[in-house]
Amino acid sequence: MKKLVVLGGGESGVGAALLGVQKHFEVFVSDKSEITKKYKQILLNANISFEEKQHTESKILTADIVVKSPGIPDNVPLVLKLKESGIAVISEIEFAAKYTSANIIGITGSNGKTTTTTLLHHILKKAGLDVGMAGNIGDSFAAQVALKTHANYVLELSSFQLDGIIDFRCHIAILTNITPDHLDRYNYNFEQYISSKFGIIKNQKSTDYLIYDADNEAISTWLKNNKVTSKLVPFSVEREVEFGAFLENKQIIINITKEIIKMPLSTLSVKGKHNVKNAMAATMAAQLLKVRKESIKESLEDFEGVEHRLENVAKVKGVSYINDSKATNVNATFYALECMDKQTIWIVGGVDKGNDYNDLLPLVREKVKAIVCLGLDNEKIKNTFSNVVDFIVETAGAEEAVKVAQKLSEQGDAVLLSPACASFDLFENYEDRGRQFKQAVKNL
Ligand code: ADP
Repeated sequence: MKKLVVLGGGESGVGAALLGVQKHFEVFVSDKSEITKKYKQILLNANISFEEKQHTESKILTADIVVKSPGIPDNVPLVLKLKESGIAVISEIEFAAKYTSANIIGITGSNGKTTTTTLLHHILKKAGLDVGMAGNIGDSFAAQVALKTHANYVLELSSFQLDGIIDFRCHIAILTNITPDHLDRYNYNFEQYISSKFGIIKNQKSTDYLIYDADNEAISTWLKNNKVTSKLVPFSVEREVEFGAFLENKQIIINITKEIIKMPLSTLSVKGKHNVKNAMAATMAAQLLKVRKESIKESLEDFEGVEHRLENVAKVKGVSYINDSKATNVNATFYALECMDKQTIWIVGGVDKGNDYNDLLPLVREKVKAIVCLGLDNEKIKNTFSNVVDFIVETAGAEEAVKVAQKLSEQGDAVLLSPACASFDLFENYEDRGRQFKQAVKNL
């Protein structure tokens, strides 16, 4: 019996363990932290041996294969030791992909992954395809493959998952954009992060596709300097492309098959330039999978968006409250501010990953009438924007932030939570921050 060691007992790790058991591996799960109750129960039910709050090296180093959770960096001593011993350390998607012949559509990028993945899944499902959704989203890919495999999978992939692939191959790869993020895991080297994202085209053949944002500088530069085997399918909101998607007279035009798609922007259910890009990417992927244009259009019209991404919460006394808690970097917030069509009270702050707020200055000058800081350390925000915005107020909780925002607003304004920062100074995670914001709005 071959030995599978799984490092990390979270969603992807436990999924890999379940699949491992099904494929007759002797499985051992090891987590340096405490494993949550839910996953412990699953491991116990499946009779899988595990340890928590420690890594017993003597046991781990006997593995034939190690599946490493994306949360564990590549350069921790244990992982280095495994690699030195010649033991393959792979990601959960690499492991799961070995056991399915499904058609894989992989989606990566710095922003827009979840939205594009959810939208594409919605389109394909409505068109009647047998499709699953996994990766960074919902139930892990491995757990799904263990249970019942679909003919198609839409997978949301982080760069960390892509770092651990060997043979994994996407029939359609979507690269939504690349802007600086997670640089702490890439030696503060943007180039390294870019090549990690391009891991999505590894193993692609000439009959496969790469759908990408042609307006994104990092992507265009990389493509100029590197050869790609798969067929390039660009989208742009700035210029016409010969083969791909672009804008003309407030319509999306897609010209990748004989059936040219023309879709007025006003018919899209989700707003903002970034969502136009996401819609272009998802539409092209669906078309490559032979979904008819009428069906695609219908799905784009009734897609409800994803929670915590520019989510309309409520209108209270003529003021619109919008939850964009998932905006954890400056680029995401840029797009949020860009699509605001009202004077805005902007709730911002948290733990910043080396933010440079200067890109936001023109938008803030034009649209933001007051800033409500929601973080423990707000110095950088105050320094950057004090000359541009008259009111900057510091708060340390969602309830307080919403109350202050309401005081600063008048009928016709919008209150936008788009923090451009991570949340863990005051909240458990971005979902918790978004939920507390929504609850505070409901309490008004
Ligand atoms: P990810 O899964 O990559 O984090 P999400 O779809 O969850 O992406 O969106 C994260 C944040 O980025 C949200 O604030 C959202 O409004 C914004 N966003 C979504 N799509 C894009 C895009 N194509 N470009 C830039 N920002 C985007």
